Amino acid sequence: MDFNRRLQKAFELTEKNFDSINIERAIFLSYFCELRDCKFCYMSTIKDSPKKGLRSIESVFAEAFLVKMANWKVEFLSSGYGVYDIKNISNIAKGVASITGEPVWLNTGVLDKKALSLFENEIKGVTASIETFTEKLFTKLCPSKSWDKLMNFLDNASDLNYKKGLTIILGVGEKREDLANLFDIIKNYKIDRITFYSLNPHKGTPFENFVSPPSLYYIDVVSETRIMFPEIEIITGIWSDRIALVGPLLMAGSNGITKFPWQKFYGSKLGKSLTSEILEFQKISKRRFEGSMTDISLLKNKLEFPKNPVYKNEYIKKEILENSEKIKGRMSSYILELKAQDKINY
Ligand code: SF4
Repeated sequence: MDFNRRLQKAFELTEKNFDSINIERAIFLSYFCELRDCKFCYMSTIKDSPKKGLRSIESVFAEAFLVKMANWKVEFLSSGYGVYDIKNISNIAKGVASITGEPVWLNTGVLDKKALSLFENEIKGVTASIETFTEKLFTKLCPSKSWDKLMNFLDNASDLNYKKGLTIILGVGEKREDLANLFDIIKNYKIDRITFYSLNPHKGTPFENFVSPPSLYYIDVVSETRIMFPEIEIITGIWSDRIALVGPLLMAGSNGITKFPWQKFYGSKLGKSLTSEILEFQKISKRRFEGSMTDISLLKNKLEFPKNPVYKNEYIKKEILENSEKIKGRMSSYILELKAQDKINY
């Protein structure tokens, strides 16, 4: 099938199977990783990293409240390897799930079966960051991570009835023809969600002098994935300088956009630009974005819990309310930051 026909087909399948367009926010629990040697990762440029960069739980919860108010989705809770123990991750997940009213996805590294079985219904699914199409390239890119452990992690998630996701970075030396291998993994492990990013060449990494992959290649991979898997959830990452990719990615089968820095976007010219991409796309689509990227007045310094939540935990809710002053303090400084950004950009 040629490129134009494939794009058309991918668009039709996405229209048939989905109603919404999502803005997805990965909530970071830390800016620390004990591995720090994945070749594309900016953390690999940080030589000595004591366990700093852990976020306070109040700031994580403050961000979750704001994400909910803007009607975005929490893509997953994310952290590097070796940051938190299971109990901590589970508590944070319960808090974020109570705030958004939905169980959360995790992207916090490989967890063994015993650890995974300690979670309850606060978790919807787990993410295996395989990063690329083949084990061979993965081993070169991520020397301290284990492909077999990631696959085993997916098996364990299946046994425990969790959903399963993958993350892939495009432009790190993969071959287009190896996409078939990725599709085998999606099929064999019954993957529910895939997040594609395009390479952001970080200074100090071997990719420093690379460029991000061409937009048509990105769209080609997304559309091919949609055609192969009409019902899989596809999330696509963009960087601040690639907002014009949003419309084409949505056409190619993406369900949601992620990765851009929300503090820079919300209420600013960048947020306006992203909104206009979505509005233009909505003229040819029945899918809808029900949230906002621009309306600062939606962000209130109040702890509001959802009215009809899928996930609810009265004990955690009480704990959050007991800490409300600290959380509101964080929310207030985030909102001030966004307003300051607003003034700069308009
Ligand atoms: S495991 Fe994740 S955070 Fe750690 S170095 Fe690799 S990509 Fe970076």
